Amino acid sequence: MQYDIKVTTTEHSRLDSVDFTNIPFGRVFSDHMFTADYQNGEWKNFQIIPFGHFSIHPACMGLHYGQCIFEGMKASRASDGTPFLFRPEEHAKRFNRSAARMCMPDFPEDLYVEAIQKLVYLDREWIPKEEGSALYLRPLMFANAEFFGVRPSDSYKMIIFTGPVGPYYAKPVSLIAEQHYVRAAMGGAGEAKAAGNYGAALLPAMKAQEQGYDQVLWLDAKEFKYTQEVGTMNIFFVVDGKVLTPATLGTILKGITRDSIMTILKEKGYEIEERRVSIDEIVEAYHAGKLQEAFGAGTAAVVAHVSRIKYGDLIMDLPPMEERHVGEMVKKEINGIRSGRLHDRHGWIVPIQQPQLV
Ligand SMILES: *Cc1c(COP(=O)(O)O)cnc(C)c1O
Repeated sequence: MQYDIKVTTTEHSRLDSVDFTNIPFGRVFSDHMFTADYQNGEWKNFQIIPFGHFSIHPACMGLHYGQCIFEGMKASRASDGTPFLFRPEEHAKRFNRSAARMCMPDFPEDLYVEAIQKLVYLDREWIPKEEGSALYLRPLMFANAEFFGVRPSDSYKMIIFTGPVGPYYAKPVSLIAEQHYVRAAMGGAGEAKAAGNYGAALLPAMKAQEQGYDQVLWLDAKEFKYTQEVGTMNIFFVVDGKVLTPATLGTILKGITRDSIMTILKEKGYEIEERRVSIDEIVEAYHAGKLQEAFGAGTAAVVAHVSRIKYGDLIMDLPPMEERHVGEMVKKEINGIRSGRLHDRHGWIVPIQQPQLV
């Protein structure tokens, strides 16, 4: 379906002020943004406008009660320069699963993809050409009714804005298996990309950093026994040639990178086990010399290798980078598909096309 998205272009592009060979992470925003409003039970006012501030009422419910969800995805270029998106429909679906959990309205998935197509086409010069760089896309929805009480809002704002990011050279990360704080409990909102999950994770992450570690390895909220995620990435372990990843049973964000990695591993004939993976099992594998790899998986880094895991008094140093065959293989595959060097066997790539003129 084609939606009526009104486009107002900027008269002052900031494109020339950006040094694409040296982009400060997270601080550069492209020229335009998409916005829409949910009022009286329907989405309306679809528009692409110059990127900029907007004003918020002090009683804006999203600020008080946390009805706020987001997505993170990337537009990049094939080696021949063609711009494209990676699995945008999956991000649109997850956005709506997050919305449902937070009692927020569905955003039409075809509009989500169409808005991104139009926005990114308009700002296509903002997609970096350098290999490994990308245009980061941030869809965001928040409650904006002006009301004191706690109840689901009846109005919402949807925004999609973008910004170029340089190659993400993920250095290996060290982790503390967290035995005090939790990210998500069964029945909670861990499966939703909801803003509050991230605010609550900052303190444990800061405490891990004070001890000289990069991130937290989250354990389950009930027994502090089963591994969940690493920071804001899904976690994979390679034990004795087998790939293990925690099953997403309600507390774990269903990563699209995680899904892509599992698809590739299955295709390559790896044995993968998607089930509960206890920290004791990882410790046992470590002592038996069978813990070969651990890595985080997410859109930003694709794969971030784990160099060390601290669990209580035990410090587990993982094998050197040269031996990380599984993590490196999946990273190369995904980056290869993303850059158009490898055949897109799964229909993950969606080219950004010139919108049809109506
Ligand atoms: C976004 C996110 C991920 C990774 O999801 P991708 O779709 O692969 O980017 C994993 N865990 C958490 C908590 C996240 O917020």
